[in-house]
Amino acid sequence: MIRIHDTLTNGLRELVPRDAGKVSIYACGPTVYSRIHVGNARPYVVFALLKRFLEHEGFDVTFVANITDVNDKIYDAARERGVGSEELAREMTATYRRDTDRLELGRPDHEPLASETIDGIVELIQALIDSGHAYASQGDVYFSVRNFPEYGKLSNRRLEDLAAQDTGEPEEEAQLKRDPLDFALWKAQKEGEDTAWDAPWGRGRPGWHIECSAMAEGILGLGFDIHGGGIDLVFPHHENEIAQTEAARNLPLARHWMHNGMVRFGDEKMAKSVGNIRLLSDVLDEYGRDVLIMYFLGGRYGKPLAFSEEELEQAQRSLERVRNFCRLLRRSAPPRGEGEADRFVTDQKEKFFEALRDDFNTPSALAALFELVAEGNRRLEAGDQIPGISDAFAEMLQVIGLENLLEAEEPVEEEAGRLAEERERARSEGDFERADALRRELAERGYEVRDTDDGPVLVRSSRS
Ligand SMILES: [Zn+2]
Repeated sequence: MIRIHDTLTNGLRELVPRDAGKVSIYACGPTVYSRIHVGNARPYVVFALLKRFLEHEGFDVTFVANITDVNDKIYDAARERGVGSEELAREMTATYRRDTDRLELGRPDHEPLASETIDGIVELIQALIDSGHAYASQGDVYFSVRNFPEYGKLSNRRLEDLAAQDTGEPEEEAQLKRDPLDFALWKAQKEGEDTAWDAPWGRGRPGWHIECSAMAEGILGLGFDIHGGGIDLVFPHHENEIAQTEAARNLPLARHWMHNGMVRFGDEKMAKSVGNIRLLSDVLDEYGRDVLIMYFLGGRYGKPLAFSEEELEQAQRSLERVRNFCRLLRRSAPPRGEGEADRFVTDQKEKFFEALRDDFNTPSALAALFELVAEGNRRLEAGDQIPGISDAFAEMLQVIGLENLLEAEEPVEEEAGRLAEERERARSEGDFERADALRRELAERGYEVRDTDDGPVLVRSSRS
């Protein structure tokens, strides 16, 4: 049995898929107006690894992660840079794909673009107008919140409380609404907005929330299994997705609402608006994807995750233990696929997967993995044979996206070795700028420098 925390019912619920043997996941992806940071990368990693785990459990998994390429933020950023919004969105979409490719977790099965889903969006808005849940107002279209009595059920908000809040929106916009609670489904084209589409109620572009309702339904249908995203999206984004879809279709959008916690840097969530971001690409340059994945695995997906150099270094040390163990396995373990597995091995493997079945508890799964590493080290070093350990370890690493650690490492080129020595010298002389430059040069050649207990070790980047 696999249980996952469901935000809507605020408890653990068994994952019972809509279609036997299949699991469908939709996770809200980025708004492409700038490069993504480590906080944006968390849902990508969480849901890509969840997919691997569910496949391990025998499900046929479809993972959808949308790309929001029509949005106020994109118009603003494009204006600032003096480029067209379509051009900026296209460039940032390509950059997002390149950055996330470097995580080497594969692409989602579908990556719909809002700009390519306009027909579905218009149809959904029309259905809401026809059923009296939305109204057009001078080219804008608004969702009538008070006509959807269940509004607030995901985020546990009451309409009275929401109505009492000052939204701080511009007066001109507030005047277009029948009620301050209403939110936009479509916005009439404004001056300076260079991307727009024709619709029955006027030329303009969709609101953010309706894009996701339409993209998710268009690809996965109604009542798909898991709707995911960052916990900061619960209100209003996901609350509004639920309202739109249920009001138009009389059926739930998703069976499970699964939210990842924020990455925190300093005392606040990592966010462009806060100004405390570390770009995914920079952290990948510096630490490599293996460390970053180990870092994400170290926290419960639903909880906030602290980001700091110390956290990454801790992940690096954990990773080094696994990497060293993989080397030992290559040297001393019995070949894969031979003999009946050792009892300790099967027990640890079971603990590992049981932890993942229990609300995808990756820290607990890692604990089981490290117990196997500790005992495996002890027994293999003592010359003991441990049947089945290589197979079990490979199976575990595959699910957490670190199976590449088992591949034999290629010998280091002479020139790379020389650069690494030079970097070490620069570091010991306190010339960190030079050391960083050498690290970058090595990265370009396809090497990562990893600082281990036995000093720095050069390894081939798993792919560069
Ligand atoms: Zn969304």
